[in-house]
Amino acid sequence: MKARELLSQIREALLERIAGSVGRGAPAQQAFSQELQRFYVALERAVETGNPTLLDPALIEWTSSPTLTELQQKKNNVAELLDKIVSITNDVAAENLSEQDALDLLTTVTPIYVYALEKIARLEMETRVTHVSNALTHAQQKLERLDRSKSAFISIAAHELKTPLTLIEGYASMLHDTVTASDRSQIDTLLDGMNQGIRRMRDIIADLIDVSVIDNDLLSLDLQPLQLKYLLSLLGSAFQAALLERHQTLEVADFTGSETWIYADHDRLYQAFCNLVENAIKYTPDHGRISIDGRTLPGFIEVSVTDTGIGISSENQLLIFEKYSQSGPGLHSSGKSKFKGGGPGLGLSITRGIIEAHGGTIWVESAGYDETNLPGSTFHVLIPARNEPVDSGIERLFGKLIRPGSEPDGKQSTQTDSFAA
Ligand code: ADP
Repeated sequence: MKARELLSQIREALLERIAGSVGRGAPAQQAFSQELQRFYVALERAVETGNPTLLDPALIEWTSSPTLTELQQKKNNVAELLDKIVSITNDVAAENLSEQDALDLLTTVTPIYVYALEKIARLEMETRVTHVSNALTHAQQKLERLDRSKSAFISIAAHELKTPLTLIEGYASMLHDTVTASDRSQIDTLLDGMNQGIRRMRDIIADLIDVSVIDNDLLSLDLQPLQLKYLLSLLGSAFQAALLERHQTLEVADFTGSETWIYADHDRLYQAFCNLVENAIKYTPDHGRISIDGRTLPGFIEVSVTDTGIGISSENQLLIFEKYSQSGPGLHSSGKSKFKGGGPGLGLSITRGIIEAHGGTIWVESAGYDETNLPGSTFHVLIPARNEPVDSGIERLFGKLIRPGSEPDGKQSTQTDSFAA
């Protein structure tokens, strides 16, 4: 007898057994037995034609409507059901057909079931992957919303803090002007302390505003022709007091590329290098050495800031460029030049934002964190050697720049400027 007829012969017994084994409530069972009927019709046609893909519509329908709870609980509902159908078919065939007929039927129907099981496994996996990736997208959107509102809050708070700070600054200056000469020595110490606090707060507010500007891709650069040699030479005098206080030296080498004219934002680049030198001073013990060197690379100028400080552990070398990342252990004092004087953890994220806005990149190299052996750190900055102005009007004003790599006087990297001791 043909497999198709054998299947029809056991139809009632098989459907009844399957419906009973699912064990749902009466209304659900009725709906389920209708679906089962449809599946069975498709199965009979698949057996008759030898084409298992005729089961596809039923399988797709079964797998396309899992509930959220089922997906969250990772239940393989349809695969489990199909597995049950396979074993019930074996039992019912054995009970209701002769041995030979049961064997004939199962020989035909088994490859179709194998196909259906594979198809179901694939479909269920796809549904689950879609569900997980939707959940991930949802979570990412939520995080982005949170990050945006956090950055909006910081920006508003920073702007709002500027007004009362200006008031305090104004009153401090009025106080300074109204104090008579006899009271001056006493009051000056207090005013100095006050002004120091005000300056520190101004810097923090400016950093907060910079972070939110960078976060929102709103950092606009004012690209002007400059030579790194000149920009870096300003650092010595800017940090002279701190270097003297900490008995540290800052050496700026005269490297190839330092005299190349490039288009960059002078103030922003200066701010970036100030952050690096300030950190080098902070995270290097007294009597340490900070050196700035560089070289030209195809299309870029690399500047490196090296210190003889406490170094950075490898796991923190990426983290420190994230905002609010005060990764250094045991940061105790707060100040711009005190040893390990922690800050708000914004400096490096702003520095990275500035360098990346130029089209460059920044990374750190350090043998690790060690306060005894002082392995030091080197921050590498790659700045594009841009020799074309973004605005052609600038070129009309300043003329065409010398190509990167070539220096006006062809000087080589030997000379060194030293500051403090
Ligand atoms: P802040 O100095 O305000 O904490 P930064 O963003 O400038 O924030 O630096 C983040 C962290 O990176 C610092 O807290 C410190 O742990 C580490 N770090 C930065 N520069 C150095 C350096 N030159 N040597 C050792 N650690 C450093």
